[in-house]
Amino acid sequence: MSIPVPFVDPPVAMHDSYGRRLHYLRVSLTDACNLRCVYCMPDNIVFRPPAALLQDDEIVTLVQAAASLGVDKVRFTGGEPTVRRGVVELVRRVRDIPGIRRLAMTTNGIMLPRLAQPLVEAGLNQVNISLDTLDPAKFRQITRRGDLNEVWRGIEAARAAGLTPVKLNCVVTRGFNDEDVVDLTRLTLTQALDIRFIELMPLGRVADFQQSQVVASAETRGRIEAALGPLTPVAGHNGHDPARPYRLAGAVGQLGFISSVTEPFCEGCTRLRLTADGRLRLCLLRDDEVDLMAPLRSGADFATLRRIMAEAAYRKPWGHRLEENDIAHSREMSQIGG
Ligand code: SAM
Ligand code: SF4
Repeated sequence: MSIPVPFVDPPVAMHDSYGRRLHYLRVSLTDACNLRCVYCMPDNIVFRPPAALLQDDEIVTLVQAAASLGVDKVRFTGGEPTVRRGVVELVRRVRDIPGIRRLAMTTNGIMLPRLAQPLVEAGLNQVNISLDTLDPAKFRQITRRGDLNEVWRGIEAARAAGLTPVKLNCVVTRGFNDEDVVDLTRLTLTQALDIRFIELMPLGRVADFQQSQVVASAETRGRIEAALGPLTPVAGHNGHDPARPYRLAGAVGQLGFISSVTEPFCEGCTRLRLTADGRLRLCLLRDDEVDLMAPLRSGADFATLRRIMAEAAYRKPWGHRLEENDIAHSREMSQIGG
């Protein structure tokens, strides 16, 4: 970490000054959402008008630039990516970009009964569906409006379309669903699900709530093991995946813990994020961003965009500074995509 890796000109594969190769781009397609999860956004949030968001051609151009710099995996997120008009065609166009080998999506699942099959036909490789509880009343409380049955129909549609194993994201929030992790884990005994229990991260205007309700992964894991027995590590962990996989004895599915707050995994970070309003965000939990929309809209050529992106990536900060209580306040989670 002490000797900076030099910037190479012209850039070929993006890396930062710590030598981390950055090959995974998460793209927020919109800040808008059909839910209002308590840990993600304030209830009175105002979404950006469509003209303030990157247009389809702009997203394709920026992913092309990223792919030319070694990005091979893209994830569409939001806000809720499935509420963006034309999302299926956008999947097709991004999947066709040379060098992009995997395209995933994080979604609340509500639109999947209609979209799962077309998304797969367009080339989507994987979905993560957010599900924090199996209790319909708690689901409504957490999402401030959602119907749990709609998410289940989305999970079924994803499976039927071949997006297996379906990954479930569960944000553990004290006082809302910290006890529900046991019932969720029980699902893995009979279903080929891959559940990720995520520590609540502080960001934006709801940071105080997020900080006060965080549940450490160690506590979640202890609760699961006390109720259902020991968790055994599953072989073949991909070192870049922040969730090491575990399994209950005899289970079909598996689970993992994303412990960004109590056990940061910044050392192995390979990610960059593109916000829906066209900023390259260098770390989820830091406000360092570089504007790509302005140069794009003022006619910058491909080589210039590529250079701005590579130079920005080189300045990626080492990691978050939550332990020093340094919270990024400029955006909500829904405006970045998690
Ligand atoms: N709307 C989609 C969804 O909910 O899956 C995609 C966007 S959402 C911002 C992406 C992921 O971030 C979801 O799994 C969500 O649960 C998670 N998330 C939202 N706020 C969070 C927070 N404060 N801490 C940790 N994860 C969070
Ligand atoms: Fe919407 Fe996803 Fe945020 Fe929930 S977590 S409010 S579904 S963007």
